[in-house]
Amino acid sequence: MNVLIVHAHHEPHSFCSALSARAADALHHAGHQVVVSDLHAMAFDPVSDRRNFTTTKNAAYLKQQQEEMHASEVAGFAPDVEAEIAKLEACDAVIFSFPLWWFGMPAILKGWCDRVLAMGRVYGGPKLYEGGLGGATKRGLIIMTTGGGPSMYDGWGLNPSIDRVVEPVQHGIFWFNGFMPLEPFICWSPARMSDEERGAELERVASKAADLFNEPALNLPPIADFPNWQHDVKQRFMVTVRLARKPDEQFHAFVTDERAMLREWKRKGLLLDFTAASSDDPDWRAFLIMRTADRDEVTHHLQQLPLVSYLEFDITQIAPTAV
Ligand code: FAD
Repeated sequence: MNVLIVHAHHEPHSFCSALSARAADALHHAGHQVVVSDLHAMAFDPVSDRRNFTTTKNAAYLKQQQEEMHASEVAGFAPDVEAEIAKLEACDAVIFSFPLWWFGMPAILKGWCDRVLAMGRVYGGPKLYEGGLGGATKRGLIIMTTGGGPSMYDGWGLNPSIDRVVEPVQHGIFWFNGFMPLEPFICWSPARMSDEERGAELERVASKAADLFNEPALNLPPIADFPNWQHDVKQRFMVTVRLARKPDEQFHAFVTDERAMLREWKRKGLLLDFTAASSDDPDWRAFLIMRTADRDEVTHHLQQLPLVSYLEFDITQIAPTAV
């Protein structure tokens, strides 16, 4: 398989660069072809303007998407943009490797997206989501280092959750263009790690990369479920979960499997949200937001939960609501 790594760190000796290189090694070792666009080493120009094109549709007013459509028809992309589009077309998976900057990607990588993901050649018309360049078969992986630790991004701290931070890439770039996003590889605060911990992170990224084409991808909803860009054809339900009987020894043995099943539901796009009271709360409740074809499907899934015999459920259909 062909893998494109788009790497965006200005220091070749950074830990982020070490992770990227280790991932590339593991991919080679697993028999894949790896192409690396090291944006700083290439001095990639991130500024999107007329220099994206060797052609002009309208010299009086620059409308980027219109010029991209034109350039797609007449092979009019500038050589640096054309080279990157060709790499994206040829790859079976793309990896974005970058440090978290301002809750997002560094400008040089954002500029790569702005210039390379061109309307016509890469996306547009029917070329969106599962109909996009990735065809829902190519894969997308984030390898990212951070300054803050996991508790700063778990949704209970001041910062947004890490899922929200990576969503513009996972959904807005990978899935919008038909690349199936994988669970991102986040290396939390490498600057605060010991050498041993950093060594373990290098091994972790190597096994993540080696598994690139085996790991089940995250299932984001297909465009086909939203005809004419209107609301979801599937329904959404809030499930309130209560304890039906007192937990015993066996209950605790099932908790790990229960969590694994909820994670799998999340990956499949069946579980949109989950929250629960503290486990020592005598009035314990959990709340699930589920996306399914109908109520029967919710009931069917709930019956598969390892802890089902301890639980009772209230299922309420929910609807778009303004506040
Ligand atoms: P480095 O400092 O390069 O590496 C850490 C340590 O690893 C160093 O001591 C290095 O010598 C060592 N190392 C390198 N290679 C190896 C190797 N092969 N083996 C073992 N050790 C090695 N953080 C946030 O959480 N949120 C933000 O919004 C955010 N915004 C930022 C905005 C900007 C403009 C900047 C500059 C930083 C921001 N940060 C933010 C922090 C940033 O995300 C982290 O500094 C960065 O991700 C750390 O990764 P690094 O590779 O640069 O670490």
